[in-house]
Amino acid sequence: MRLRLTKSNNAAFLLRASFALYIGAAAASVPVCWGGAETARPPAAQNAANAQDIAERLSRAYPGIVQGVDSGGVIFADGTRLPLHDGKGDKTFAAWLSDPDIADMFAIAYPPGQVSTPPPVNFDPGRARNAAFFKKVYGDCAAGGVTPALVDVIWLPKKARQVLKVTSVNGVAKRLAAISAELDELSADFDGFLWPAAGAYNCRDIAGTKTPSAHGYGIAIDIAVQHASYWRWSGAKDEAAPAYRNEVPMEIVRVFENHGFIWGGKWNHFDTMHFEYRPELLTPGDGLQAGADAAGSASSGTPAK
Ligand SMILES: [Zn+2]
Repeated sequence: MRLRLTKSNNAAFLLRASFALYIGAAAASVPVCWGGAETARPPAAQNAANAQDIAERLSRAYPGIVQGVDSGGVIFADGTRLPLHDGKGDKTFAAWLSDPDIADMFAIAYPPGQVSTPPPVNFDPGRARNAAFFKKVYGDCAAGGVTPALVDVIWLPKKARQVLKVTSVNGVAKRLAAISAELDELSADFDGFLWPAAGAYNCRDIAGTKTPSAHGYGIAIDIAVQHASYWRWSGAKDEAAPAYRNEVPMEIVRVFENHGFIWGGKWNHFDTMHFEYRPELLTPGDGLQAGADAAGSASSGTPAK
């Protein structure tokens, strides 16, 4: 598919080179091909350029759950498959967001680490989630499929001792516990950004949509709201984001990213208190830590239901 990031056909699109915008076009057949030669390709984005790369990312990010990708789609450890492409062709931004196929989740490369400019219009890496894929991996919360795998994580055991519920599937709880331990060591200057956390597991749709929230899979956490910025809070309607705002320090963001969590502060539709476990969008080269928790993830929880 080809994702059009512009708000309308006439909207001027501002490309800021330092923010690694990428527009990809995946062919209906495997291997996936990317859009025409006229499309500028920042280096980071080229990493998500083909089915083999998607296969490697998914297999690495979901060990013991995803076995690979072939012409029949994504192969799960239980032998079932989900299509990589839905064959729906070009998608508007709204369609990409509301009805992404698995390949669409990689259409915009997530930029790890420090970024120097606000995200361009509709630059929302990781915001599109193929619901079938996440329900397969983590379960369907509306059907009671997520709660059996939920475990308690003590958020900031020294400072806050707040109990949060996240899934144990795919090592998510262990990852969040490691993040919590690292953030607990930051100076008190960071406290107001971190706790009280605004929540983790919550079976709901994203505000203003019928799209399942990452919180419903038990893979997301919202940190403290005092310094948070959320695009909808500005009275924005439809999908037009207001001017970018953020107060959350990069020291916090880096800790999350190193454990496979992406940050909603890197979205044009910013949600700066939101982090979610999306290790397929980060790579060891980005600082992603493998760790014992990743190695043990296949045996924790109940993957690939
Ligand atoms: Zn959130």
